[in-house]
Amino acid sequence: MSAASNAPIVKGWCPGALRPMMSGDGLVVRIRAPFGYLSQEQAIGVADLSDRYGSGQMDLSARANLQLRGVSEGNHPDLLSGLRELNLLDPSLEVEARRNIVMTPYWEIGDETFRIATRLNDALQAETAPQTPGKFGYAVDCSMAPVLGDCSADIRIERCEDGRLICRPDGHAFGAWVTENSAAQTALELAQWFLDTGGAPENRGRMRAHLAKGAVLPEKFSEVPAPLGAARPCPGMSEKGVFFGLEFGALTSNTLRGLASLGPLRLTPWRMILVNSCTKPAEIPGTYLDPETPLQRAFACTGAPHCPQALGPTRLVARSLVSMLEPGQNLHVSGCAKGCALPGKADLTLCATGPDRFDLIRNGRASDTAAMENISASALPKYLS
Ligand code: SF4
Repeated sequence: MSAASNAPIVKGWCPGALRPMMSGDGLVVRIRAPFGYLSQEQAIGVADLSDRYGSGQMDLSARANLQLRGVSEGNHPDLLSGLRELNLLDPSLEVEARRNIVMTPYWEIGDETFRIATRLNDALQAETAPQTPGKFGYAVDCSMAPVLGDCSADIRIERCEDGRLICRPDGHAFGAWVTENSAAQTALELAQWFLDTGGAPENRGRMRAHLAKGAVLPEKFSEVPAPLGAARPCPGMSEKGVFFGLEFGALTSNTLRGLASLGPLRLTPWRMILVNSCTKPAEIPGTYLDPETPLQRAFACTGAPHCPQALGPTRLVARSLVSMLEPGQNLHVSGCAKGCALPGKADLTLCATGPDRFDLIRNGRASDTAAMENISASALPKYLS
């Protein structure tokens, strides 16, 4: 196969529920649960819909959305009806595309994160809201130590060390002071500035890339330095409940039911689901609680045979290698150079070049130049050790 025919196809949009994406195992239907929250009834309802209309397999995305896999085109309308009954469907394709909000999983009903996210959520439903590209999104985290710093977002509303709030474009070390009343409006103004200054030609583009090309922000977005933030949480017990880790972010309908039996769920962008009413660890098949497990440092996309762009399998390979990782070392196994599972760098990246062949990239991304090419799967342990 030529290098050109190996090049991944960049679609430039993310699937939704109303606009699903075809994959190798059927439609991928992404549910954008408001506030990243699923009541017990909603979670069990989604699990049932996944069994009835899909394959029972799901993924938790890096934007804290739940993706149902294996849905046939014939079943899609009935699945949408089921999601509508569960209050998990947006009123239109346009609203679904722009209502991309990730919240800290630590929000409480009525707190500042909740109130600002509610305003932003409502504002993004208006027809006049900036029609940003499907990948464009917002992160809202008003905790004293924000935890969403490594989560993909274009506009961030966060709290500074002195307690005040800031609205900051992603990729910029400064932001504008805001209050609870002005935060959502300032975020929308910034989104409109992004569009007006050519950030999304052909309805594609991200804030960080736009700034890197030299776009000059309005002056007020240089008022205050970004907060330092805190590290992301780990699987297991925490002050806020139990974080259940999901291997490579995948889960089955039975795992979702098991988690829902413990309480309402908070979807996180870190391949974990928080059950914050849970006060002690519980064994739920398909999840892990060990904060030290190397699985936390292993990333693998869907790969073959489920993704049509995959040149080889991924998760089986990653699982077979995970125990070889050095402390702190991370591993990314990608089915193609697109690198969906980890857009950033990994210590070790294996990028499939065929059903049984991988390029090895050290300290890089799946699209970077390989240190070694076309290693057979059986020889991988030798090169990784
Ligand atoms: S990185 Fe993986 S999931 Fe993404 S397009 Fe390539 S094979 Fe598919």
